[in-house]
Amino acid sequence: MKALVFEKSGLENLKLSDVNQPEIGTHDVLIRVKMTGVNPIDYFVVNFIPVKPIPHIPGAEIYGEVVKVGDHVKDIKIGDRVVVYNRVFDGKCDMCLEGMEMLCRNGGIISVITNGGFSEYFSVPEHNVVKVEDISEEIAASLPVAGLTAYHALNTVQVFNKTVVVFGASGNTGQFAVQLAKMMGGYVIAVTSKNWIKDFGADEVVSYNEVEEKVKKLTDGKMADIVINSVGSSVWDKSLSVLGNNGKLLFFGGITGSNVNLDLGMIYGKHASLVGTTGGNRKELVELARIAKRLRVKTWKVMKLEEGQEALKALFDKNRDGRIFLKIE
Ligand SMILES: [Zn+2]
Repeated sequence: MKALVFEKSGLENLKLSDVNQPEIGTHDVLIRVKMTGVNPIDYFVVNFIPVKPIPHIPGAEIYGEVVKVGDHVKDIKIGDRVVVYNRVFDGKCDMCLEGMEMLCRNGGIISVITNGGFSEYFSVPEHNVVKVEDISEEIAASLPVAGLTAYHALNTVQVFNKTVVVFGASGNTGQFAVQLAKMMGGYVIAVTSKNWIKDFGADEVVSYNEVEEKVKKLTDGKMADIVINSVGSSVWDKSLSVLGNNGKLLFFGGITGSNVNLDLGMIYGKHASLVGTTGGNRKELVELARIAKRLRVKTWKVMKLEEGQEALKALFDKNRDGRIFLKIE
């Protein structure tokens, strides 16, 4: 089968190659990959993160059709359209038992500690797939990382009737954070230069340069109850400064860097909480699949598997306006 493979870290080493189709075990399913989301994690996997196996196939956000099932697979059938819950988990440790499979003591991220899905076929245990129905390929390929990360972060707080400020609102996770926060009953202020985010449910759209003054005005000086920082260090200071009393700052991902200065007085003085999150759990992915028909995604580019290098580079393009996908035909 065709796959994007690298033997040595570095984007220049990522090549389209012919490799063996993965074998499946008795509890696994074989997926014909249709579309994958392109995310910062894929860029980090190719360039920096130690991975296994080597040679390695990246690709963390996978959607496709089941073409083969192991002898002990019960609930998934050939022809099912599925998305992949991208965590390896044992289902037995204390974290898994608490429904936090993404923090499994014996787990890790699919595409980091296993091959990913930038390939024609992908095999994975049955318990890692979630069925999806009548939704677009782009939405399906946005549920496992972009959608799930935003959904889980919002589930760690009470959104109803709260003011939610989303930094990076037009980004991969940001556009889902806006939609989901709105569905949960929040008053959503999107921080971005892209006006289309209004159509995704944002109550207000403000630019980065005016965010402090606008949030102050829109909240009568109370500032935000919840702030989402999906992009990292570049907006850290502002995300803290728009946080109001007893506020919660949710953050995940660091496409602009992850080292910040921390003024402790800015946190305890407001009785604020900083909540780092990573991915989400399986239950949340099932719930997302159920409401996926109500979600939208802004697509910038749909590229081919052989354009993998360009697709990963394009994540950092100043003109990027929405998501990048690889369509695998
Ligand atoms: Zn576990």
